[in-house]
Amino acid sequence: MRSLLNIILKLSLAILATSGAMAQLPELSSPLTISGSPTTAKFFGGASGDNGASFASSFNYDQKIDIDVKIQVENGQLNTMGNLYVFILWNNQYFIRVESGGYEIWDLTLANLKAAFPAVTLQASHTINIADDVAFGPAGVFDTTLGIYLAYDSMTQEGEIYYSGSPLSVTINPPLTTLEGCAKPFYSDFPIPVSSDGTHRYYNFSWQSDPVFCANFYGSVPADLKDKIRRTLSFAKGKLGLLAPINSFFVNLEMADKAGYIADVCDTWPYRSYDVEDKQFKKIPRALCIQNAAPVNLENARGGGGASEAGFHNGGGSEVSINGYFQFDQWQQEGEFSTEEAAKKFYGDDVAKVGVHEFFHAHQQMLMWYFEEKKEFGIPISLMEDFASYQNEQYEHDKVLYTPHWIEEGSAEFAAYLLMLQYDSTFNARDLFLLQLDNARDRISAGKVVNDTVSLKDYEYQVREELVQSEDNPSGVARTPRGKFDMGMWAMVYLWHKDPNNLQGIMVDYFKNWGEQENLHPREGWKYSFQETFNISIEDFYTEFDAFMVKPRAEQVSILKTNEEFIAATFFPAKR
Ligand SMILES: [Zn+2]
Repeated sequence: MRSLLNIILKLSLAILATSGAMAQLPELSSPLTISGSPTTAKFFGGASGDNGASFASSFNYDQKIDIDVKIQVENGQLNTMGNLYVFILWNNQYFIRVESGGYEIWDLTLANLKAAFPAVTLQASHTINIADDVAFGPAGVFDTTLGIYLAYDSMTQEGEIYYSGSPLSVTINPPLTTLEGCAKPFYSDFPIPVSSDGTHRYYNFSWQSDPVFCANFYGSVPADLKDKIRRTLSFAKGKLGLLAPINSFFVNLEMADKAGYIADVCDTWPYRSYDVEDKQFKKIPRALCIQNAAPVNLENARGGGGASEAGFHNGGGSEVSINGYFQFDQWQQEGEFSTEEAAKKFYGDDVAKVGVHEFFHAHQQMLMWYFEEKKEFGIPISLMEDFASYQNEQYEHDKVLYTPHWIEEGSAEFAAYLLMLQYDSTFNARDLFLLQLDNARDRISAGKVVNDTVSLKDYEYQVREELVQSEDNPSGVARTPRGKFDMGMWAMVYLWHKDPNNLQGIMVDYFKNWGEQENLHPREGWKYSFQETFNISIEDFYTEFDAFMVKPRAEQVSILKTNEEFIAATFFPAKR
C-alpha cells in the first residue's frame, strides 16, 4: 500500500511539474493490442531540449533533454487495477523499466514482463517521466536511436495488453569533435625530416598523435548555421578519419574586422611561397602575407581547401565564405521554397556542403602524404625542390601536380553529397547529381555540334583545360572548366556502379595508395594508384567512361544509387 501511494504521488508530481510549460505531447501512431482487437487507448510521447516548449527527434551528444510519455486508457477501464509498462529498444536490444525506476534487459517473453508501475488504479491518463534533464551522450548513449514503447493492461481484460505500435524515436548524435576558434600554427617552419630516399622526405610531426579539428568563424555567423557547419564537419571527420590538424576558416565577408581576419589566417596558415629563381619554398614574412592577402569583400568569395606540401607542417585547412546562406532572404521572390525555414535549410545545407567538400580536399592530401607502415608523412622532393618542373613558362601547371583535377574535384563533390546525405537524410543529393549530369551532357552535345570531342582526360590538369577553351579547341567555342566537377563526380558514380568496393577507393584508398605508388613511380603516383585501387588503367577508364557519357540519359541515370543506398553505404576511415 505504501509503495502504491509513492507511485501515485510520483505520477501526480510528474504531471504537476510538467503541465505548465509543456506543449501537447505528440500522439504515437497505431495503438495495438496483443489479441489484435481494436482499441481506443492512446499513447503519447515527446522528447524536448527546452523543457517541453517544443519536441524534437534528434539531440546533441551533450544536450540535456526531457522525455515524457503518456498512456490514455480506454474509457471502460477507468478506476480498474492495471499495470503500466515502458520498454526501450536500444541497439537491437529491448530494455524494460522495472519498479525501482531502473531498466533490465527483456527477452520479449510475457513470462519475463515486468511492470514499471505495477498494480495502479487506472486514471484517464498517466504521464510518465522517462528522463528529466538528462544528457545521454556523456552517459554512453550516443550515435544511436532509442525507440520507446508504452503498454498497459487492466484486470477487466485478462491476458490483453494495450501498447503503442509505433515507438517514440529519440536520436542522440555523436559528440562534436570540431573545436571552435583555435587557429594557431604548430611550427614556424618545416622541421628536419627524420629520413629520406630518392623520392620522398619523411617527417614525424608533433601533432600526429592527436590532430586538432578546428572551425574558426569570422564576422557575424548565425548560430544555427555555425552549429550545422560544426556538426556536419564532425560527422565527416568521424566517417573519413583525420591524419593531420585542420583549421577551417568560415567567413562572413561583410564583417567589420577584416584586418584581424587576414592576420589570423597569416598567423595560422602556410605562408610560404615557391621561389622560382631559388627553386624552393620560402617563408613569407607576416607583414607581406597580410599585405598580399586578397581583399575581403563580396566580390572575393572564398572556397578552397587542402593540405599542401607548402604548409603541411601546420596541417591542412580551408577558407569558405558563408554569404550564400543569406540568399534565403529572397525565398518569397524565388518561389522555389514554400517556407522561410525550407529556404534557410537549403542555403544552410549548401554552405555546410562546401565546408565538407573543402575538408575532403585536405583529407585527400593528408592521405597522399601519409605512409601508413612507417607512420610518417612523406613529401615528394620534386614538389618541394623542383616545383617549376610541374609548370609551363606561364607558371601554370601543365602536368598533373597531385591527382588529375577531375579526381580531385569529382571525388570531393561526390564525397560531400554522400556525407551530407548520410548526416541528414533530407539533403537533396539526388537532384544535385542529376543537375550535374545534365550540365555534363549539355557540354558534350554542344561540343559535338562544333566537332569538339569532350573527354574526361581533358580535365586532368589546369593548363590543358584552359587550352581546350582557347586556341587548341578546334571549335573556337570556349568550354567551361566545370567538367572537372560534374564529369568528375559522375566518374565516381560510374566507378561505384562498376564495383561496390570502389566506394572505399573513392573515399579513402585512392589517396591512401598514392604515396606508396608515387614512391615507386615518381611523378606518376596518381596514375599507378588509380590502377592499384580501381583495377583498371586510367587510360582504359577514360575510354570506358567517355563511352558511358554519350549513352542515353535514362541509361546513365539508372546507375545512380538511390538515396537509401547512399545512406546505407559503408566505407572505412583513414587509420593513423
Ligand atoms: Zn574543390
